[in-house]
Amino acid sequence: MGLFGFFKKRRAEKTMTYGGTTFQAPEPISNEEYQHKRQKEIDFLERKYDLSTVEGIMAIPVPKRKEQPTRGIPSVTGKIEYYLMIKGGQYEKDGQVELALACYRKANQLMPMSSTIYSYESYVRLPRYLRKLRRFEEARIEEAEIDALFGEKKHQVIEEQGWLERRNRKLFFDMRELGTDLVEATYIRCCCAECAQYRERVYSLSGQDRRFPKLPDALLYGNHDCGILLFPFIDGVSSMQTRDGKDLHGQRIIKYSNRPFIDDRTPDELRDMEEIRQKQTDDAIRERSRTDYNWLWEFMPELCPKSFSAYRRMQKAQTENFKKIVIEAKKHGRNIE
Ligand SMILES: [Zn+2]
Repeated sequence: MGLFGFFKKRRAEKTMTYGGTTFQAPEPISNEEYQHKRQKEIDFLERKYDLSTVEGIMAIPVPKRKEQPTRGIPSVTGKIEYYLMIKGGQYEKDGQVELALACYRKANQLMPMSSTIYSYESYVRLPRYLRKLRRFEEARIEEAEIDALFGEKKHQVIEEQGWLERRNRKLFFDMRELGTDLVEATYIRCCCAECAQYRERVYSLSGQDRRFPKLPDALLYGNHDCGILLFPFIDGVSSMQTRDGKDLHGQRIIKYSNRPFIDDRTPDELRDMEEIRQKQTDDAIRERSRTDYNWLWEFMPELCPKSFSAYRRMQKAQTENFKKIVIEAKKHGRNIE
């Protein structure tokens, strides 16, 4: 969310820097060009690997080290692990069980080594399919591995370990290079009450420059994912653009940075934040339903609907059949909501 907002803001400049890497904004291409590019990527991967046999798929080597980020925006669709997921989906649809499983398995081995960060949802294709096949023990083994990889961050991207330390080291290094003690904290639209107070100000890192507030520890070491970015700020050179598009210079930056530290989120901003929270709650409910559904699928197959989406529909509508499932599950000691 923070990254997206930032990207949008800088879009006019065609490049952006994030986490020390400069990205070039892609030139817009037509759908035809896009399809052509995709087909070339697919042809290349199909030539390079044998994806028609389980042995061929399992023989795809897994890099020992994590892939270094490429310069520019890498083509995710051209990556073998990404293509394996698509291929697995096709095999699954065609009822080619072992080929589909091999694709998902190999993709799960490759994803942690990729410079692309894949979501939890990408990894769980494998155990979900195993459950569909009623291969519960195998599914549980895969789920345990994925859970170990993600920990509590199931619905977030895996955050690289030590990300904050690395960001800070780079920030301090850049500040030293530029000979400045000042830091600009960016404006972000969707954030918590704490970040709302801290956003969009210039701070003194050491606290020795009394004209500016001291940079709060929460911004340096806090683990919010609200997304405030920190940049070196050069007194007398840098200007500051406020959320309403005003360019501030000199004394006005000092005054603005010292405005009261309050949660100044507007009704619009609060509503957006509320929507994000709601989405997180919905995701949590969905996750809970998924576990319930998996339980039904394993232990009460005679009552379980054929697909998760069908289950979700009856759950949302609270149909008579759904209520029956709840009662039956309770008899087996399982509370379903
Ligand atoms: Zn926050």
